Amino acid sequence: EGKSTHSQTDVLIIGAGPSGLMAAYWMARCGVNARIIDNRDTKVFLGHADGLRARTLELFDSMGFQHRVLHEGSVSTEANIWVPGPQGKLVREAQFDIFRVDESPFHNTRLNQGRIERFILDSIREHSDLDAERGVIADSLEYDEESGNDPNSYPITVKVRVLGEDDLNRPREQEIDAESGAVGNEVNCSNLLPDDWADLAPRKKPQKTQVETIKAKYLIGCDGAHSWTRKQLNIPVEGSNTDHIWGVIDVIPISDFPDIRRVSVVNNAAGTILVIPRECGLVRFYVPVQTCEADTTDRFDRSKITLELILERVQAIFAPFTFDFKECSWWTVYQVGQRIATQSTKDNRIFLAGDAVHTHSPKMGLGMNMSMQDGFNVGWKIALAVAGTLKPEILDTYATERHPLAEMLLDFDRHWSPMFTDQKPGAADTKASNMALVAGKFEDFADGWKVFYPASSLVRKAEDNAEFAFARHMIPGERVRPVKLRNQADGGTRWTTRALESDGRFRILVLAGDIRNPMQKQRIETLSQGLAGQTGSEISPLGRYLEIPGRFKSPVDILTIHTSPWKEVEFFDFPEILRPFDPVNGWAYDKIWCDDTCMFDRYCDGTAYEKWGVDQVLGALVVVRPDQYIGWVGEIGDVEELTQYLDGILVKKSPTDEVDAVL
Ligand code: FAD
Repeated sequence: EGKSTHSQTDVLIIGAGPSGLMAAYWMARCGVNARIIDNRDTKVFLGHADGLRARTLELFDSMGFQHRVLHEGSVSTEANIWVPGPQGKLVREAQFDIFRVDESPFHNTRLNQGRIERFILDSIREHSDLDAERGVIADSLEYDEESGNDPNSYPITVKVRVLGEDDLNRPREQEIDAESGAVGNEVNCSNLLPDDWADLAPRKKPQKTQVETIKAKYLIGCDGAHSWTRKQLNIPVEGSNTDHIWGVIDVIPISDFPDIRRVSVVNNAAGTILVIPRECGLVRFYVPVQTCEADTTDRFDRSKITLELILERVQAIFAPFTFDFKECSWWTVYQVGQRIATQSTKDNRIFLAGDAVHTHSPKMGLGMNMSMQDGFNVGWKIALAVAGTLKPEILDTYATERHPLAEMLLDFDRHWSPMFTDQKPGAADTKASNMALVAGKFEDFADGWKVFYPASSLVRKAEDNAEFAFARHMIPGERVRPVKLRNQADGGTRWTTRALESDGRFRILVLAGDIRNPMQKQRIETLSQGLAGQTGSEISPLGRYLEIPGRFKSPVDILTIHTSPWKEVEFFDFPEILRPFDPVNGWAYDKIWCDDTCMFDRYCDGTAYEKWGVDQVLGALVVVRPDQYIGWVGEIGDVEELTQYLDGILVKKSPTDEVDAVL
């Protein structure tokens, strides 16, 4: 045994898959002392998850790398259903759209998980020196419940092994992930992009395995379907395996099937396959290869299922169309498990995210999306709590916001899965209409547009969940519906998904209405005085809360969006607090935006206020959380209520300041 060391970190993340990396992003952005470990020697390169939902792309835009996905990925806009026709030949039975132009700037896109991990890793490196530590396996966990009450304590002790040349006990990855099929076989790495090459090189292992004891304030278990962290905490999972074994291949197909580059379900007597076109000329095929006893805990014998066998199955289902391939980049076999952990946190000190909480069929392309959104949700909260900016009790909202969604996810999966497995004669006739029905019911949820975050200190709902008359479609607990706006200073356009950057700050959206109207202009002046703390006190909601150390003096930022025609007002018509001055960087030209049309950009169509249900003249006030979800909605004059809302979340510099005394 090699040397043994002791260390301390504020946040330890176990697992550098999609959910762990999303959580790590926030640590990097907020300058938090954190570590992220993974037992695998390298990141994922090929295969695995590949479907990105629109909402995930919106988050990527707020993180600054969505353009990389668009550049490399393959977009799907419609789905097709093929069934046997009268003469036994396959015919296209139905075709339906799988995108909604108005809802989001982004569409369902396919790109392999390895590239997504690349982009998040690059973004993490851009903001900090945090990096995933590979070949490091968590071995034991102790949690001291008593000291857990003191926010400054380090109640978590994790022993990790830095795997060395001598490590013979190391579990093979195949064993860890066999059930979810998350490992698979990387067949051909020749297509890897140059920025992935460095990670492909084998990790330099120490001669002897080293043991490190890490003390942490918070632990996030992002360690996949067989979560080690979950097992250490004895958190049970509910659910079971389904009875279907699926094969998955990523190949460059050689086929005369007309929809080979379109999402399709092909359903005939020989079985059902799902066709998913993706980047680099690849197409993914999901193929049922075997049925075994449902609810069995026995693992099926993977070794019996070969690439050749999967190829034969695809050929049988596609017949009489032809199907073959020369290039296969990745393939795997998996059994679907529909399971949910009964809890996703222990005392708000240890959290589970991603597949550690929920597993289900991969065919609807939701697991990675949901997992990343889990990591995103828990990540900003822990980062700001560690920074001292956020009240630790807000961490309650991770479970109350995400756990019900995990339940919905399983419900969704239970509705969808049978559509890909039911092979009874005649079933095909109803398949198309069933699919359209289920798609309609779950669409908003699946794409991530509706998340149903409940009322809490973070989400101030109106009584009876009614809409706010002055901002009807700005619904607390939902995301800000993306719109494209025009910058008042330079006339350039930008989606709100990018303007609301995920940098750790809450944002007050001053929807200023039409400031050509003298009364409205006066209201904005008064609001600005309130925001600047000039109405009876020196303390403004901007200067009131503890900073994000090393990052931002205030955890609250302001963005103004007005409806006056772009050409009829000036940047300097807005009060200074809305466009602050910095002695080095000058005026903040990126703070004032206009909801107007733009000749050169048809997406910037002056409909933001209409989509948000906000009065064009009177405007509204909205607070957006760091993850772009709406937290609070009010009228332009409601600075006091706004400050009360933030007081419930953020730590004040001076704890005795009460809103009533201030404003
Ligand atoms: P993982 O990606 O499983 O990451 C967990 C990490 O933790 C691993 O790297 C593991 O090595 C590490 N780890 C585990 N234990 C330890 C330990 N003790 N110490 C250190 N490290 C540890 N989802 C979609 O959204 N869209 C899709 O199109 C899609 N397609 C899929 C296709 C297939 C074939 C499969 C198998 C899955 C698919 N999914 C898809 C699901 C998706 O892959 C998962 O939901 C997603 O990877 C979960 O991310 P995660 O970070 O929670 O877990």
